[in-house]
Amino acid sequence: MFNKRTKIKALLSSEQTDYEATVMGWVRTFRNNQFIALNDGSTNSNLQVVATLGDLDEAILKRITTGACIKAVGQVIPSLGKGQKVELKASSIEILGDSDAEKFPLQPKKHSLEFLREIAHLRFRTNTFGAVFRVRHSLAFAIHEFFNKRGFLYLHTPIITASDAEGAGEMFKVTTLPLDGTAPKNDNGSINFKDDFFGRSTNLTVSGQLEGELAAMAFSDIYTFGPTFRAENSNTARHLAEFWMIEPEVAFADLEDNMDLAEDFIKYIIAYALEHNREDLEFLAQRLEEEEKQKPQNERAEMGLMEKLDFVVNNNFERVTYTEAIEILKESNHNKKKKFQYLVEGWGIDLQSEHERYLVEKHFKKPVILTNYPKEIKAFYMRQNDDGKTVAAMDILAPGIGEIVGGSQREERLDKLTQRMEEMHIPAEELDWYLDTRRFGACPHAGFGLGFERLVLFVTGMTNIRDVIPFPRFPKSASF
Ligand code: ATP
Ligand code: MN
Repeated sequence: MFNKRTKIKALLSSEQTDYEATVMGWVRTFRNNQFIALNDGSTNSNLQVVATLGDLDEAILKRITTGACIKAVGQVIPSLGKGQKVELKASSIEILGDSDAEKFPLQPKKHSLEFLREIAHLRFRTNTFGAVFRVRHSLAFAIHEFFNKRGFLYLHTPIITASDAEGAGEMFKVTTLPLDGTAPKNDNGSINFKDDFFGRSTNLTVSGQLEGELAAMAFSDIYTFGPTFRAENSNTARHLAEFWMIEPEVAFADLEDNMDLAEDFIKYIIAYALEHNREDLEFLAQRLEEEEKQKPQNERAEMGLMEKLDFVVNNNFERVTYTEAIEILKESNHNKKKKFQYLVEGWGIDLQSEHERYLVEKHFKKPVILTNYPKEIKAFYMRQNDDGKTVAAMDILAPGIGEIVGGSQREERLDKLTQRMEEMHIPAEELDWYLDTRRFGACPHAGFGLGFERLVLFVTGMTNIRDVIPFPRFPKSASF
């Protein structure tokens, strides 16, 4: 019986009238004891359901309250009201789930995003989060489509990992040992993990890259798309403790191939959203425009959301070396007038997000791919350049966000790799399984990691990463 319903999106997008339809959804508002704005999550638009006393029981009408779940059957007719082409004239309404108007926590007004974060199930029923999560869904779908079309294999890397030498970030420990001080100890007082569940120390993964490289040495082109965890105490609008990452790893590829792939990839998924989520994106663009109006003139973004997305799809990303970027930053008026919190004094510094944003938003005014960073500030597995100082790394920086992609060509030469690991005090025994890839048929290869939520932030124009994941985890917060 339930599968006979028509989704509101389908009903509204068809111009057809004068037929009977069954719809189900949640009441957004009930106006003049007659007009129900009904939403079933398939679209941001509500269906107007006209409930007339006389056709319907008074007792039922009383139960049509904001938040209630109803089933309505009736004729689809041309709408006389503004804002919609068709509406449903209800011949019967059934209450599937009551919603107590006195206790309903949302008022028919704008609520802050922070407030909504605390009412997890109603948050999904707001216009803003409805749009954000439909766009998030589309982006995830487009990611699989992109890689599938190119013949990449979707690889599931482990969530519980034994390797803690990746250095990508602080890790969460996974253990079943007692936490009351009775866990077995070594002579030096440290925990003895021999008696732990896995017989060794384990963590939640910070990245699937190293495992991904093993698979790329067999399938040529692979990607991962899964949750990653970082116990870093970064209380920022760009960091989560649990986030999703996409990590392609490609055999027979160098840094340039890697950049081309990343750029094509980002353009493809944004174009997909522009094509399939126009209504939601236009809603979010409107929302952003209103938010921007609250800011002083000089802090407002130069482009609206739709314009920005079109721009990214239709223009090449700027490719700049780290060394060139440092020169630009050092010579900038911003630096000379000491407007950076961290002044740029010279080659070798790690770029702060204020520097990245200056390059992208003020200097180049487009996405930027920074390449060839000093080896000291990058991971051990990045391929060493001939200058002895830099590695074949690339970060993609996006307007409003900063780093969105981090990647590199990998060091495929065993001697160079082990030497770098030694310099960085990374125990080779622990990564022996990884070094095997360099022992038996190594090849030039490259890959990158894209933080999914940073991409969703960029596409939706939201400002806080906590608002683009259904159940955000961040320092001091893991509700639901
Ligand atoms: P950042 O300097 O912004 O902390 P990172 O250098 O730690 O980033 P990588 O280790 O290169 O990032 O991870 C790859 C990608 O994962 C990043 O480009 C970013 O998009 C995303 N990312 C990293 N840390 C987080 C986080 N805590 N929350 C959400 N996304 C993240
Ligand atoms: Mn980080």
